[in-house]
Amino acid sequence: MNKATCRGCGAPIVWIKTPAGKAMPCDPAPVYYKATPDGKDKVVTTRGEVVSCEIVPGANATDAGYRPHWATCPQADRFKRGGRHHE
Ligand SMILES: [Zn+2]
Repeated sequence: MNKATCRGCGAPIVWIKTPAGKAMPCDPAPVYYKATPDGKDKVVTTRGEVVSCEIVPGANATDAGYRPHWATCPQADRFKRGGRHHE
């Protein structure tokens, strides 16, 4: 994992590589989650897979992973899909 700083809000982030070779900016603190197909949260596993899940307290969790930073960033608008700007 590569450590970095969010260019939007200045928070520390880590880059996690997905199996497709893309790097996802994530919050550095791991969270516990329970994988559910229609979960409202998204988590990136340590293997770089994005799973739908619910963030839950540790005792109820099936695994631990990382929240994508665009889910928590106050400047999330900058993370709009594809990084394109509309004018
Ligand atoms: Zn940010």
